[in-house]
Amino acid sequence: MSTAKQIRNGFIDFFKSKDHKFVPSSPIVPIGDESLLFANAGMNQFKDIFIGLVPPQYPRVANSQKCLRVSGKHNDLEEVGKDTYHHTFFEMLGNWSFDDYFKAEAIQWAWELLTDVWDIEPDRLWATVFGGDQADSLPEDTEAAKLWTKVTTISAEKVLAFGKKDNFWEMGETGPCGPCSEIHIDLGPEMCDMKNVPGHKCRVNSGCARYIELWNLVFIQFNRTSEGELLPLSARYVDTGAGLERIAAVLQNKKSNYDSDLFMPIIDYTSDITGHKYTSKLGSKTDNAFRVIADHIRSLVFAITDGAIPSNEGRGYVIRRILRRASRFGRELGMHEPFIYKLVPVVVDCLGDAFGEITERADYVSTVIESEEVSFGRTLDRGIEIFNTAAKRAQKSINKIINGEDAFRLYDTYGFPLDLTELMARERNLKVDTETFEKLMDQQRVRARAAQKFPSRATFGVEELPDTDDSSKYYTNSVEAKIIRWCDFEGCHKEGSVGIDHFGGQGRTHVDSDEDIALVLDQTCFYAESGGQTGDCGSITSNNANFVINRTEKLGNCVLHWGKLVEGRFSIGEKIKAVVWKDREATKKNHTATHLLQWALQDVLGKSVAQQGSYVGPDYLRFDFTYPKAPTTKELKKVEDLVREKIASDLPLTCVVMPRAEAEKLGAMALFGEKYGNEVRVVAIGAANEKLLEDAFSREFCGGTHCDNTGQIGGFKITKEESISAGVRRITALTGTGLNAYFEKASDIVDELSAMLKVPSEALVDRVGQLIKDNKKLSKELRAAAKTSGSDVMAEARQLLQKCEKIGETSIIIGRLQNTRIEQAREAVDMLKKKAKSAAIVLGFEDDDKATLLAGMTDDLIQKGLRAGDIVKAIAPIIDGGGGGRPQMAQAGGKEPKKINDALKKAAELIKENLLS
Ligand code: ATP
Ligand code: MG
Repeated sequence: MSTAKQIRNGFIDFFKSKDHKFVPSSPIVPIGDESLLFANAGMNQFKDIFIGLVPPQYPRVANSQKCLRVSGKHNDLEEVGKDTYHHTFFEMLGNWSFDDYFKAEAIQWAWELLTDVWDIEPDRLWATVFGGDQADSLPEDTEAAKLWTKVTTISAEKVLAFGKKDNFWEMGETGPCGPCSEIHIDLGPEMCDMKNVPGHKCRVNSGCARYIELWNLVFIQFNRTSEGELLPLSARYVDTGAGLERIAAVLQNKKSNYDSDLFMPIIDYTSDITGHKYTSKLGSKTDNAFRVIADHIRSLVFAITDGAIPSNEGRGYVIRRILRRASRFGRELGMHEPFIYKLVPVVVDCLGDAFGEITERADYVSTVIESEEVSFGRTLDRGIEIFNTAAKRAQKSINKIINGEDAFRLYDTYGFPLDLTELMARERNLKVDTETFEKLMDQQRVRARAAQKFPSRATFGVEELPDTDDSSKYYTNSVEAKIIRWCDFEGCHKEGSVGIDHFGGQGRTHVDSDEDIALVLDQTCFYAESGGQTGDCGSITSNNANFVINRTEKLGNCVLHWGKLVEGRFSIGEKIKAVVWKDREATKKNHTATHLLQWALQDVLGKSVAQQGSYVGPDYLRFDFTYPKAPTTKELKKVEDLVREKIASDLPLTCVVMPRAEAEKLGAMALFGEKYGNEVRVVAIGAANEKLLEDAFSREFCGGTHCDNTGQIGGFKITKEESISAGVRRITALTGTGLNAYFEKASDIVDELSAMLKVPSEALVDRVGQLIKDNKKLSKELRAAAKTSGSDVMAEARQLLQKCEKIGETSIIIGRLQNTRIEQAREAVDMLKKKAKSAAIVLGFEDDDKATLLAGMTDDLIQKGLRAGDIVKAIAPIIDGGGGGRPQMAQAGGKEPKKINDALKKAAELIKENLLS
């Protein structure tokens, strides 16, 4: 029996034998394609070839593409678990011809591989072709129909024609398109899941699970114009896709994809963790949970590896929804603690061979998943209760709809994505009022917007702005240019002048010297903020006016120099001189050092390190990256040393603009989720010129300004390493002037300490060590001394017991303690409990201007519903604080010692009320 790995390799080897080049899968999070959330077909990475934007590198290619179908045009999320063959994540095996072979070879080879190499009985296979569409003037694909019986052994009655919905592929409203031909397999009559549907007959495309699609061959031969006309393409393409999971199930003789070796290890391990058994039945609630979890963990591993992070929007929200669904299904298997992250290594075991990236980033992925599980786990159980109440209400209503307010509350307070609520509703044959839900969401968005402060960016549209030539930013710090616009926050002025005097004539021509305005020039050498690098500061001067720039931003392709008019008046059209301040040099050092840092981090910590964001300013640099745990001091030291070594070697930098594909081939690092055009700039460190890019040890996509060689950086020091969210670390570091200032300050501190402690600087460490030791010893002695005075506290407590009120056998011991600390007060409560047998105790005391309340209950009272935690929670607000604890003992701290007596009074009331009721 073939393993999935053998099947995948078999596919690729087969097409290699037909002169295809193997091309690795593109990332599941597409780089630089905002039109697509996730890769959903093998053709995604070749889209630009089909529309004629770039030439193909090879005429024939084959691969196994990572696909995720959970959003947009293809969304199979609802199918997952309910059927045996739709997944969110799956691998699409594909072969392509870029204006090389066409239908005959595509059909013949698919058939050969399925029936000859993989030995599927030809009798079980069916083919479909496009039957034409009159309304759309699409001709039927007689060519493919004829070829099927000509180049394969299939019989004519098993080649069926279908309409546009099933057998015509279009990329969008316009563009390349063409008929397709699918191969389906008959899994046998027992697989039909529509036996109860009146009039149902099992056949291809009838919706039942007996016939499933294995492989789709698309023949791209037309171009649809914006008038809707179909024109034949001069270059024709073949684009095919076959689901690995479906083929694996067939070749392994399994009834369900989940029974194949791509899923069973995950299901088995889930079974080990949860103690539940998987029985492979459709319609079983537990089995369904197993399938959903096995499916979802694969999606999570691949999407997070490729750069998606759970969040509240876009890609991140898709990932969050998948994870929260999986958590909810975990409850069906009795899992109330995080456990999904434990499945990561199993997925890596199954698929790490074919996709090395998931092995490299496994720890990081686990960390991210676990932290999401923890945070959702906090509200999930309570959310399920809320849902159950809402569902009960809906069941009683006539229209069986869960109201939108409930759905919104579940979303807003308990983190339930709408589709999770809908899914849970469907399980009970209920619907959700999504219209009201959306209305409430809109209202919330409006509220959020209203709460935002005045926008810091200009609010006018890009249409009003001209493009600025800013190419000189890479090589000069000053230019002579012409002012072509001046802007305030409302818009742009194309004519006239602007000044701090009042002599400008018509329209707005006066500004105050403290108002933020922007000047637009026909060309500039200013770097506008982007890619983490701050915008340049500087000045614009003419013969009679002076403008200080404190922020440079880019809107569209226009560079806006924001700042203040210090003196005089500028006219539109006037010649000026723009000068970037020296800060720029410091920024360059920090930027080049950031690249060195990223390289060194990958060298020391491995490929888990991927950039998440950065700040590069004149003052310091900050670099955020994925890594599952805190790097050790030793590792950080090594990183620092590596960067310093490269600085000391004084290596050259070369920046080149080149086609994106070429840069990717060079292995230049891109930022996840960043949008790149077809031309990119690559910054290569260690390469003396454009021809020697291969020599570079660091190559990054980057539009920033850099040093000419690493020696200019001068020095490097990491000043801070911290965690900023699950799996994401942040390093802050200094170079150049920032570093000098840092050392100066550090040395001043050392001098000051030496003077204070009266020892030379070399002896400081020993001296401070000694002081700490002494201090510890003294504290210990103090604590021991305090313990003796603890007997006073006990005496006070005993007095409270003697004077206390009693209800039946129960002593109600409430009162204040003088001069005590929490440890002693706790001991007092324990002592009182033992002495009184049945007691409700609440003590209050003041320490260091803070109020503390302490409550204790004996077990007999807890049984009556009197819990220390409840009492403390109820009275803590009185002392302006909070707290809680166990039923036996609880504690609260607050800022109002004056209110201790009030709180104690309230406690007495509550306790008596409870005991007397
Ligand atoms: P179906 O009708 O079964 O949903 P499809 O028409 O959406 O399939 P295509 O878009 O043509 O499928 O994708 C090509 C191949 O990818 C299919 O023939 C199938 O083998 C596989 N495939 C598609 N969607 C999924 C999925 N959700 N899970 C697993 N395999 C899939
Ligand atoms: Mg589909």
